[in-house]
Amino acid sequence: MEIIFLGTGGGRINLINQTRATGGFIISGTKNIHIDPGPGALVQLRRLGLSPLKTDIIVVTHSHIDHISDAGVLIEGMSSYGLKKKGILIGGPDSLEGTTDGQSISEFHLSRVETIVNAKPGESFEFEGGKFTFTKGVHDSFPAFGFVLEMDGKRIGHTGDTEYYDGIEDVFEGCDLLVLNTIKPEKDRYHGHLTAEEASKLIGRLQPKLAILTHMGMKMINYPPEKKAKEIEEETGVMTIAATDGMKILSDQF
Ligand SMILES: [Zn+2]
Repeated sequence: MEIIFLGTGGGRINLINQTRATGGFIISGTKNIHIDPGPGALVQLRRLGLSPLKTDIIVVTHSHIDHISDAGVLIEGMSSYGLKKKGILIGGPDSLEGTTDGQSISEFHLSRVETIVNAKPGESFEFEGGKFTFTKGVHDSFPAFGFVLEMDGKRIGHTGDTEYYDGIEDVFEGCDLLVLNTIKPEKDRYHGHLTAEEASKLIGRLQPKLAILTHMGMKMINYPPEKKAKEIEEETGVMTIAATDGMKILSDQF
């Protein structure tokens, strides 16, 4: 199994400037899983020589445009150019049904997917070769989620976009790898995201084999992320990597 980071940028300013790419990440093992296909997901996939025709599962953790914009395009790949009803789409009600401030996936694209899963925090979804358990996200007025994925003998936790909340340590207990959306180094007036300080607290308590920071905003990018990862590693004793665009991590690293 390997994890491939298509885009590691987060936040509104980075989104438009593309200082770091957006497009989410791929977990490629028994199944090929694309998490949060934001702007450029298809282009970044192709740039790395990967094919969207091989995608088995698409996960949209919430309907902010940096997580959902290319979901329709990726569904057209997953469903063999939109010609077959194929694949699994996992999203919340905001992505599947639409909300006033979110952006839902079109009826046409939903109709091309074989299995649609409405992800509810605390619930699980089993597929051939693995299992997702969805975790709560505290992010915006509509629901956002993260997950714990069990596949190919590994347990991978992904926070999605969320604030630090009571009980967050419990839901990611026992993960081999933890992928954290870490948009900023420290607290500011914008809520709804993990700061690096909180990421460090979570990593320290959970002690995964490896922690990866991604979805970084301009303040993190300018810090820079490698320096922040090193600081977290020193604070927690856990190997911590700041993801870079196009980075691949093999499962024997965690
Ligand atoms: Zn968001």
